[in-house]
Amino acid sequence: MELVNLKDSTERVSFAQAVKQGIGKNQGLFFMEHITPFSAAEVNELLGLDFVTRSQKVLRHLIGKDEMPNLETIVADAFNFDLKLAPADQNTYCLQLFLGPTLAFKDFGARFMARVLSSIIGDSKCTILTATSGDTGAAVAAAFYQQPKINVVVMYPQGMISPLQESLIATLGDNIHAVEIKAPFDSCQDLVKTAFDDASLRQEVGLNSANSINISRLLAQVCYYFEAVAQLPVEKRNKVVFAVPCGNFGNITAGLIAKALGLQARFVIACNANDTVPRYLQSGKWEPHQTVATISNAMDISRPNNWPRVEALCKMMGWSLSDFDFGSVDDETTRENMRKLYKESGYITEPHAAVAHKVLTDSLKDGEVGIFLGTAHPAKFKEEVDKTLGIDLPLPQALEERCRLPLQKKVMDADFAQLKSYMLDDLKL
Ligand SMILES: *Cc1c(COP(=O)(O)O)cnc(C)c1O
Repeated sequence: MELVNLKDSTERVSFAQAVKQGIGKNQGLFFMEHITPFSAAEVNELLGLDFVTRSQKVLRHLIGKDEMPNLETIVADAFNFDLKLAPADQNTYCLQLFLGPTLAFKDFGARFMARVLSSIIGDSKCTILTATSGDTGAAVAAAFYQQPKINVVVMYPQGMISPLQESLIATLGDNIHAVEIKAPFDSCQDLVKTAFDDASLRQEVGLNSANSINISRLLAQVCYYFEAVAQLPVEKRNKVVFAVPCGNFGNITAGLIAKALGLQARFVIACNANDTVPRYLQSGKWEPHQTVATISNAMDISRPNNWPRVEALCKMMGWSLSDFDFGSVDDETTRENMRKLYKESGYITEPHAAVAHKVLTDSLKDGEVGIFLGTAHPAKFKEEVDKTLGIDLPLPQALEERCRLPLQKKVMDADFAQLKSYMLDDLKL
């Protein structure tokens, strides 16, 4: 598989190199220039397979025959948990991607990436530096915990992630280092970018980003879009609409790669009040506002870093941006929708899925089958879910135990010099 830097097409790398490097020159994202689609017959055949076997074939097709001889083993090992397409109301299903170890869809990408990376780094050392608005950090921490020769530094914005998310990041210890930044998520993301621009730091600690910037995470996520359609009855497979709750737009990029591979579906972009993309699609002007805090906090991102990949993919496939349906939902509407779904269908959602369900419902036409992505377990947003629905949602037991452990974290300003000296002096491999 050859990947090209979207900001400098002279930089071309293999899949392994792109996974190791994370991001290219001038902070350019790596992406493919061509995608060979499956034929309709091949797609049908794939839909008849079980999740792991199908995912092995899809990823082998994307990555090619010449790399990652152990890909099939990695896929089987990474995707060792359940995913379910659950009926939510009359016209819609929730693709429940939150049944993995940290109860978020990011487990798919993080577990795949951890195994790919540890298989390709050989004897070199490696430090994962990641900025999280909540779930990425937890998934990355869990996926890399106790992987030899790999340190993980997880930065998160103070006061903007849930106590449970913080526990999942900051109670592991060992090779997992939690750093609370006294600034919003975008500043954490800027620190990651600055770190990657610092050649000496990059070299010294073997810097790697496990953010949705990393191509391996995106590729892993392609697989569950096929699974969603495979779990539908055959007669419902022709008019599928996916609504994706978007933050950094990695998840929807993966869905669009599945579409480029031949999966028949329409895609709907669902945002919260951080609506840079919906406003862009409406006006043609890219005008990020200040990030605002919402109850769907993993989507509190005003400069989504995967957007250039969405545009590159559209260009590659000859799709028009005007083909996307989209919407943005404020907190009050999100809560109303959570109550409505619960009252009318007994289906419990957390805020991210509820945003996607609302935009989906507004977009769905007669005869279409809607699938919204359940990106987090409702229990991960227990406080909000309980308050909104007037229930007392039980926490899965493993999580309850984690919440009782003491936090091990470093608190820092959004100051690169401080971060750098911490990484160079305080962390040992
Ligand atoms: C990360 C996350 C999102 C946003 O996904 P992107 O790939 O960043 O667009 C949505 N919901 C939840 C619960 C998340 O953790």
